[in-house]
Amino acid sequence: MAQMIFSKTYSAGQKIFAMGDEGRNAYFIERGRVQVSLPKDDGETIIAELGKGEIFGEMSMIDDVPRSATVTAVEDTEVIVIQRSRFIQPLKSAHPMMNLLLRIVLARFRDAQRQLSGMRTTSSEMNTSLEEIRSLAFDRINTERDMRRGLDAGEFEMHYQPITSLDGGHIAGFEALMRWRKDDGGFVSPVEFIPLAEETGLIVELGRWALETSLKEQKNLAGRFNENFPAVAAPFMSVNVSGLQLSELSEIDRLADIIDASGTPPGDIKLEITETLMVENFDHAKAALDKLKDLGVLIAIDDFGTGYSSLSYLHQLPFDTLKIDRVFVTNMDKSESSQRIVRSIAQLALALDMNIVAEGIEEQAQMDALRDLGCQYGQGFFMSKPLTTDAAHELIDSKATW
Ligand code: C2E
Ligand code: CA
Ligand code: CA
Repeated sequence: MAQMIFSKTYSAGQKIFAMGDEGRNAYFIERGRVQVSLPKDDGETIIAELGKGEIFGEMSMIDDVPRSATVTAVEDTEVIVIQRSRFIQPLKSAHPMMNLLLRIVLARFRDAQRQLSGMRTTSSEMNTSLEEIRSLAFDRINTERDMRRGLDAGEFEMHYQPITSLDGGHIAGFEALMRWRKDDGGFVSPVEFIPLAEETGLIVELGRWALETSLKEQKNLAGRFNENFPAVAAPFMSVNVSGLQLSELSEIDRLADIIDASGTPPGDIKLEITETLMVENFDHAKAALDKLKDLGVLIAIDDFGTGYSSLSYLHQLPFDTLKIDRVFVTNMDKSESSQRIVRSIAQLALALDMNIVAEGIEEQAQMDALRDLGCQYGQGFFMSKPLTTDAAHELIDSKATW
């Protein structure tokens, strides 16, 4: 791996970087002095002189925009070079609001710097970007506040969609799906609010709440199920976990606490993870999934076939279940290739010792075809839509099978 921090020497009068250069590194002065300057009319204005122990070039390194000033060594100067690549990961995993605030501070600073140098501050390009960043930040702050208020006000609820055994016909588990009913009566789809929660970072808290709430309900549902179907295993609870919840391994300890406190046997808990987690950083994904697996829970790969599915990672990661995305199920009767895809996914899962849940079953014929293709479990509007807690209990009491 390339060295990320190293030192470099510049002789008196040598330019370290010029305004407009790409901003890859920041510099820490070990010895010597540098001058920070801006072009003005024909000459230049010196805006700062820095010595031992000071840092320069950090702004462009953080927000990855061209240098806004020129830095020249005044005397022989030794600097420690801090490369941008070293900061990409920590910046990415920082709270998104942190990133925004950092960019606002930087944009403001640059604005002030330009005024100081007498450059025209109405440079529309720069001002728009500051405006854009401000309004983006404002929107996010509002959304985050609204979601947090909603969470505190009990506007979020979990609904439960049955996952059935295609062989036995009974309920084998439930998938917990989040719902947001706003106080004004409006209803926001998770397709909208989950990505927002991911952007603002609130998904971590929302995800903990979803796990806690659905595991509490799992006990009630399992109890009711056992009264109605004493000979059938208790239904598992499948809970969606965003990749962002797993970006810090320490979050898994929090999830473990929630699981412990719920009293639900870990073997009755399934966590659904999408492929994006694997794509971004395989080594991290493997560490996170192995750590989850150590808790004794089951792990499903969600929406399989829609993302960047790569066979190479499938067998290296501890998945128990593969969820075939709805598009393949929907197109099965129209397209021969969808059917072939489902068949090969089923064979693949078998070879890797995983079971399959087929999503989005809306017709009897699809359910029958999927069973014939070797899928063990199914989920879809044909069996049931996601249900409120009460409706889920009623469904169990009705002793429904498919
Ligand atoms: P998903 O995990 O793939 O969940 C399945 C989605 O398909 C659900 O949409 C469900 O209502 C819908 N669905 C189930 N059967 C059928 C069917 O037969 N036909 C059709 N057309 N749709 C069907 P929903 O509840 O709107 O959730 C959308 C997505 O939001 C989920 O997709 C998941 O990615 C995300 N989501 C929902 N709840 C949570 C949560 O608690 N945490 C996280 N991280 N994501 C969640
Ligand atoms: Ca899911
Ligand atoms: Ca899915």
